Amino acid sequence: MFYDEAKIHVRSGDGGDGMISFRREKYVRQGGPDGGDGGRGGDVIFVASPHLNSLVTFQHNKHYRAGNGVHGTVQRMTGAGGADLRLEAPVGTIIRNAETGDVLADLTETGQEVVILAGGRGGRGNIHFANSRDQAPRVAERGEPGEELWLALELKLIADVGIVGVPNAGKSTLLSVVSAARPKIGDYPFTTLQPNLGVVELQGYETMVLADIPGLIEGASAGVGLGHDFLRHIERTRVLIHLLDGMAEDPLQDWAMINEELALYNPTLAAKPQLVVLNKIDLPDVKSLEPLIREEIAKAGHPFMSISAVTGEGVRPMLYEVKRMLDAAPAARPLPAEHEPVVIRPKADERQFTIKREGGNVWRVSGKEIERVAAMTYFEFDDSLMRFQTVLQRMGITAALTKAGVKVGDTVHIGDEVLEWGE
Ligand code: GDP
Ligand code: MG
Repeated sequence: MFYDEAKIHVRSGDGGDGMISFRREKYVRQGGPDGGDGGRGGDVIFVASPHLNSLVTFQHNKHYRAGNGVHGTVQRMTGAGGADLRLEAPVGTIIRNAETGDVLADLTETGQEVVILAGGRGGRGNIHFANSRDQAPRVAERGEPGEELWLALELKLIADVGIVGVPNAGKSTLLSVVSAARPKIGDYPFTTLQPNLGVVELQGYETMVLADIPGLIEGASAGVGLGHDFLRHIERTRVLIHLLDGMAEDPLQDWAMINEELALYNPTLAAKPQLVVLNKIDLPDVKSLEPLIREEIAKAGHPFMSISAVTGEGVRPMLYEVKRMLDAAPAARPLPAEHEPVVIRPKADERQFTIKREGGNVWRVSGKEIERVAAMTYFEFDDSLMRFQTVLQRMGITAALTKAGVKVGDTVHIGDEVLEWGE
């Protein structure tokens, strides 16, 4: 089976906790703070790979997470950073936030790397919290939690091989008999004429993408303007199968005419490696014509094969020849990006918060920044709790709660933390 879509869940690593600890030395009652910082959590990174051309690897495994940072330790030791999660996806993959549909990245170039989720910051150890008033701070930060997201991946297929030829040569028939899958091409922006795409499976995971290109002659003779995008996709094909209709009046003349059309549209099209294939050799008339055509094509210096798209005769060897030509052809140019890649970073409004009364004396404070600070606070230490109170004050949350009517003894939820409102 061929996949061009996948939905996966990713999570970046939590930052390691900062440590609260004090130097212990012989003959020194209490040394200064020496609690180290937590390590950074690992990032979730996508890497565009030229060796993949399906999203099959994302069908089996749905959940992915980067490594957590290690906690800081005594003697100012910083914890190790969490391992980044590096996910390989084919060139042509578009990564969206599955909930909002926002495009997060468009993998267009081999080797391109995009950080989709940054790992959590490591918490600072108590070595950072000593000052002239407090030489022995029992304050440190917990690591910042990682972030999680459902991603919708979509592989925009780019045809490796174009099938050209006069109307009725058998292009559509050939594509339908060799294709393991007919991926949806709804995302292609052109509407008047769509290339018909088919994915051909060779051995193992080896595939190639074929496009039946109806546009050139049919479109031109019908006066249909070909969209720029359409041409762009034809131009990206690296090998052409030029299908000859064995039943035509004069297949060789058709061949020359199509080549002329190709050159008129774009000289690079005519210069692509071309396998000339005589179709319909299941018909006796065509069979008897074959030697002559073979000879003429050979004179022109092109490889030649004959097939019957209907009976399947010669089709498999033809596919292997096309694959061989593909492997020998120059690599495709990078895709032009349709979307600016976006890296998720904290936004300016993360300090905003809301206060909600959830019951008689139960309140909830919501907000990205304050929930992050709460998650990073060691509430079991008074110094840490005091620092948290300072943050509440600075962010205007204390005043807002008082104004909203919170009373001593009320319960206040912030993220996963449950606090009791004092004095
Ligand atoms: P296209 O216009 O190039 O896409 O051609 P189609 O695939 O629509 O085929 C045109 C006609 O040729 C159809 O009636 C097909 O059934 C027929 N055809 C295609 N391939 C073969 C073949 O190998 N042998 C025979 N006898 N007929 C074929
Ligand atoms: Mg057709």
